[in-house]
Amino acid sequence: MMTDQEKTIQDLDAKHHLHPFMPHPDIARKGARVITRAEGCYIYDDSGHKILDAMAGLWTTQIGTGREEMVQTAAEAMRQLSYYNTFFYTTHPNVARLAEKIAEKTPGDISKIHFASSGSEAVDTAYKLVKYYWNLKGQPQRKQFIARENAYHGSTAVAASLCGLSGMHEKYDLPIDGIHHVGPAPHYYNNGGEMTEDAFRDHCVQAIEDKILEIGPDNVAAFIGEPIQGAGGLIIPPEGYWTKVEALCRKYGILLWCDEVITGWGRTGKWFGSEYYGVTPDIITMAKGLTSGYQPLSAVALGGDIAETISQEEGEMVHGFTYSGHPVATAVGLKNIEIMEREGLIDTPDQDEKISYFSEQLSLLNDHPLVGETRTLGLLGAIELVKDKTTRARYSDEENVGFICREHCFDSGLVMRSVGNTMILCPPLVITTEQIDELIAKAREALDKTY
Ligand code: PLP
Repeated sequence: MMTDQEKTIQDLDAKHHLHPFMPHPDIARKGARVITRAEGCYIYDDSGHKILDAMAGLWTTQIGTGREEMVQTAAEAMRQLSYYNTFFYTTHPNVARLAEKIAEKTPGDISKIHFASSGSEAVDTAYKLVKYYWNLKGQPQRKQFIARENAYHGSTAVAASLCGLSGMHEKYDLPIDGIHHVGPAPHYYNNGGEMTEDAFRDHCVQAIEDKILEIGPDNVAAFIGEPIQGAGGLIIPPEGYWTKVEALCRKYGILLWCDEVITGWGRTGKWFGSEYYGVTPDIITMAKGLTSGYQPLSAVALGGDIAETISQEEGEMVHGFTYSGHPVATAVGLKNIEIMEREGLIDTPDQDEKISYFSEQLSLLNDHPLVGETRTLGLLGAIELVKDKTTRARYSDEENVGFICREHCFDSGLVMRSVGNTMILCPPLVITTEQIDELIAKAREALDKTY
């Protein structure tokens, strides 16, 4: 039973708060869930209901929530230097140290880092820097970008244009010019049909090459892709896909841009998804796990010639934000990475064992009549809900099965996200094996209630 005060929060929220990605009249009718507190891998709502957060917030909270060490770090940073900018020939220790740390942790020869606050800002920044680069290189005709179907790259105008989800475009007169989407997304279960997985992989890569040739290789500025597509349905590409995509980019002199807002910072078991796949991007965009969500912070990391060219340019890089390299956010980022290193949360035998356990346990759900496929990579997982396991027939949008399952999860004390008929998991890197057991038991309970 809700108290008057809590009801007031729902009322205020319905009356004045425009939520991201929500139908507002429906929120007003139902009332938004009020989350009041979080600790470790759990969130708590206003009635004290304890919920295992198997989405790490929004693919964010690598080290879990509510850690006192992070609170102290933020408080101390705020006391020391609550704000100063990094424009006008000034810097501060936290931003310089974090830039060095990112350069150390990213694959290849990444060496130059520009900071922003959100993933979308990082994506918009990288898009501009790519254009800047080709202008500096005397190839101003290279202005076309290739992105993929099902991609999610953010909500600002450029980032939303790069998304390969029609819902991101329709209501906003997007995409902007110069952005091309290529399909199919490398989703073997959904799009592979009768092909073998290898044949399907080659088919996806060929589609990218065809697109490059259609646009004219000398006009293509960059190829952008999430190593694993996240919000588009947790799409794990077939083996060898990324090596082949990188080879294509090198063949045609196209910049390879990995958007690692989700796959960065330990999600795949390695520090970055590109490292997992053995590719060396020219550009990496990152956010979320960089601070585990304790502060808003994102970054664009540049390597190779784009890093060299932009950093050697005598003229001003006319770009930046008031909060580029915010002193508190960068302090928190540094502490977050220190904790991940100290606790062995990335690329260690213990973490690899946990990842294997997660994969084994999730695969046990394959026996459920509603489950067509489970798949995992690192601590990312998906469950495909189907009407018919053999034909892979899906439920219609109107049947809304993913949404129904998500609601049952909440009631059972579990956050799983639904993207259409796909249930998605992205637990904090600190999840324990006991909590993985709890996750699987609650997921099964929700599947039973949905079926
Ligand atoms: N890029 C990717 C791959 C993402 O998954 C997201 C958000 O989920 C973004 C960019 C946008 O990040 P933000 O929501 O912080 O703007």
